Amino acid sequence: MEEVIIIGSGPAGLTAAIYASRSLLAPVVVTGSALGGQAATTSEVENYPGFPDGIGGLDLTQLMQQQAERLGARVVMDEVVEVNLRQHPFVIKTYGEAYEAKALIIATGVSPRLLGVPGEDNLKGRGVSYCATCDGFFYKDKAVVVVGGGDSAVVEAIYLTRFAKKVYVVHRRNELRAQKITQERAFKNKRIKFVWDSVVTEVVGTDHVTGIRIKNIKSGVESVLKAEGMFSYIGNSPNTQLFTGQLELDDGGYVVTDRQMHTSVPGVFAAGDVQERTLKQVATAVGSGAMAAMEAEKFIAELEGRAYPERKW
Ligand code: NAP
Repeated sequence: MEEVIIIGSGPAGLTAAIYASRSLLAPVVVTGSALGGQAATTSEVENYPGFPDGIGGLDLTQLMQQQAERLGARVVMDEVVEVNLRQHPFVIKTYGEAYEAKALIIATGVSPRLLGVPGEDNLKGRGVSYCATCDGFFYKDKAVVVVGGGDSAVVEAIYLTRFAKKVYVVHRRNELRAQKITQERAFKNKRIKFVWDSVVTEVVGTDHVTGIRIKNIKSGVESVLKAEGMFSYIGNSPNTQLFTGQLELDDGGYVVTDRQMHTSVPGVFAAGDVQERTLKQVATAVGSGAMAAMEAEKFIAELEGRAYPERKW
């Protein structure tokens, strides 16, 4: 029987692990397939306090993992395939094991939303990517298309100019959603060309991407941008399929929590992007991860009839 299981290894899950470890709960972190979560795929994190020169997303999450493990967390590289939250202790099954736990922290984050256009699925990994830090290197001196107008699209477009000779940013409006400082940097970058009011209608290519068909939504005119890669950043969907029917989810599929990260099931807490609809940042994820862990400790203490200690922070 585990005290607390944490599903997910992004900043929220790892912070929950740090706090739960310091409460001597020996948490088990089941990493999921995306070790480090979305943050680990971010080329550079510039707005997380404490790193005045910025830090790579992978480096940051690796440091968080080291910190959690040093304090006593067990990080298991496995994926949860089934949970039963209708009984207590909760049952959490992974590919390799079945666990029972007194408390559960869900930090499963989000996954990239797909464009859903012809060619996207069959050219995945052959020119279609959702991670510039993972795949950008393969596009040295080539042309690539980035889709979207949010922070991810613009930050990663700038990152891709380290390799690609030309980066088209295809956005469905004529105004970006990204933070102003990021926009300014992108507008100054000579390798980036913005293609406004346009949507992707097809990824062209047989063995590998050779072009991206786009349509101007104002004029209706279609054209093909010659490019060997497409990096899509059109937002995210919460990873909550495992919990459907067992936990209250909102109309976007996000876990509903209160301010202390309690979900609709006592003893189950959620932290990070999986419950965050407004400000998806490393800074907000670590805050909710810390809160979830402290509330899990409180839940276990109350369950066992122990007084929860007054804390002097
Ligand atoms: P996002 O902010 O939701 O932006 C998604 C972009 O894709 C928007 O520009 C949207 O257009 C466009 N889009 C959505 N559906 C589309 C479709 N079907 N076809 C074409 N375009 C579509 O997502 P994100 O950029 O991944 O960011 C997610 C969260 O992480 C945000 O809260 C963001 O601020 C945060 N983040 C922050 C940083 C940072 O602070 N450095 C870095 C990365 C991410 P519209 O603008 O027209 O809606």
